[in-house]
Amino acid sequence: MKALALCAEAVAAAPGRNEKIARVAAYLETLEDEDLARAVLYLSGRAFPASDRRKLSVGHATLREALVRVTGWDLEMIATCYREVGDTGETVALLVRRHTAGREMSLAQAEALYEQLEQSRRTAQKVELLAEAFRSFDWLQLKYFVKGITGNLRIGLQEKMVEEALAAATGLSAEAVRGANNRSGDLARVARAARGGALASIEAVLFHPLEFMLAKPLDRVGDLADPAEWWVEDKYDGIRAQAHIDAGRVRLFTRGLEETTAAFPEVILELAPLPGPLVLDGEILAWREGRALAFSVLQQRIARKQVSSKTMTAVPVIFLAYDLLLWRGELQFAMPVEERRRRLEGLGLRYLAPQMRLASHSEIEERFLAARGRGNEGLILKRAGSAYESGKRGGNWLKVKRPYGTLDVVVTAAEQGHGRRASVLSDVTFAVRSDDRFLNVGKAYSGLTDEEIRQLTVLFKATTVERYGRVSLLRPEVVLEVAFDGVQRSPRHKSGYALRFPRIVRWRQDKRPEECDTVERVRELYEASLE
Ligand code: AMP
Repeated sequence: MKALALCAEAVAAAPGRNEKIARVAAYLETLEDEDLARAVLYLSGRAFPASDRRKLSVGHATLREALVRVTGWDLEMIATCYREVGDTGETVALLVRRHTAGREMSLAQAEALYEQLEQSRRTAQKVELLAEAFRSFDWLQLKYFVKGITGNLRIGLQEKMVEEALAAATGLSAEAVRGANNRSGDLARVARAARGGALASIEAVLFHPLEFMLAKPLDRVGDLADPAEWWVEDKYDGIRAQAHIDAGRVRLFTRGLEETTAAFPEVILELAPLPGPLVLDGEILAWREGRALAFSVLQQRIARKQVSSKTMTAVPVIFLAYDLLLWRGELQFAMPVEERRRRLEGLGLRYLAPQMRLASHSEIEERFLAARGRGNEGLILKRAGSAYESGKRGGNWLKVKRPYGTLDVVVTAAEQGHGRRASVLSDVTFAVRSDDRFLNVGKAYSGLTDEEIRQLTVLFKATTVERYGRVSLLRPEVVLEVAFDGVQRSPRHKSGYALRFPRIVRWRQDKRPEECDTVERVRELYEASLE
């Protein structure tokens, strides 16, 4: 772990993506096969491979309890340190410094410890194991060991970059390494195979999510050079999902690669009889009388672990398939869209997205309006002859949708970010006007430049009226323009609404809070979305 920790520190300090990758590659080259397999996992912020069923189940409370044991500080003090630092691994490293024997931890020891933590069923056992480790090992190595537990190194190193570094260290193409990791969800296995020149032998693993193909936005249908070269489908506004099916077993994964099987029992029943091993790409939709209901209706089914039969009757859902990723156990990525479609049609599915070729811009425009008329968001165009480009937004899929517009909102609270952004107030809560009050409608994290965030942090600090831990409540002064993909009902916000996928477009220094948009405007947008 010593060399890994030093490598990680150097990566954190390295200025750019390429420098970070080069540092990781140089470190990986020094390792023998088994350590290479471990290091690529830990540098990706994982204790176990992604497709591994084992889960650590070590929460913040357990880690804090172990810190109490070792340092003698109380929980309140430890919570305060965590709030200041913003990362559990860093907090552990700082606090155990004077309490540890400072021994070196080998990568094999780290692996054994992760395994012991996973196997201990009782929290008390986990606390004991952690406390013992905190007393024994070097603080810098513990920092990265703990980050492996919390699941994020926060050094600006994404798994994709570790894949690239592994490729560089083994003399293979990044594409080949990425493909093998996508198929198997096991970077450790990929690392061993890469050394042995056996990447091609790594097959797709069922019940582990594959990366989704993404679509590029197309503003105007008129911009298409070759309208007849595209397959046209409606763009449905539901939850993108991947269904893995084999021998009566079905598991569903969302676009964020999270499992969502338990939320949709009727979908599982419907798909279970299909011949596996099979992986379908499609959309989960609230559905009635042959058409999709608004996303805000489907929303009632999300966030529920257990579904009552009452909810199932009130909001019936279906899985509408539109692509095929694995068929009879064979990966379909390289197959042209026409062949994937032919095989998909051969499955005799009850719900399959209609697909057609249209000859001209005006026919596609008409189809767009018809899709909107059916309550769908717009169209998805798929280039004739194209492959399924897993994990890419390469331009072989295009999305056409009416932009939902933007709102001017006022910032009412700001929160410390994480990692690199721990010292600035980068996460903002914003509101719209209702008479002389401001009611919250959402939160946004992205869209401003580092310089704007720095300036705003100064301003936010000057206008803070109250602080609750990481959150500062502000006098409403700063106006931002935010773009979003829709409006939904929300009990969490005072306005009763939340914007979907809000992102900051710009800082409206020219506007005063009284000039921002109103809750009536938000209500209008919401009601229009139900029509
Ligand atoms: P994006 O996720 O930004 O790439 O936008 C494309 C999204 O459109 C996908 O993630 C799907 O959730 C959604 N979608 C809706 N209908 C379709 C369709 N017929 N084919 C592919 N994607 C679709």
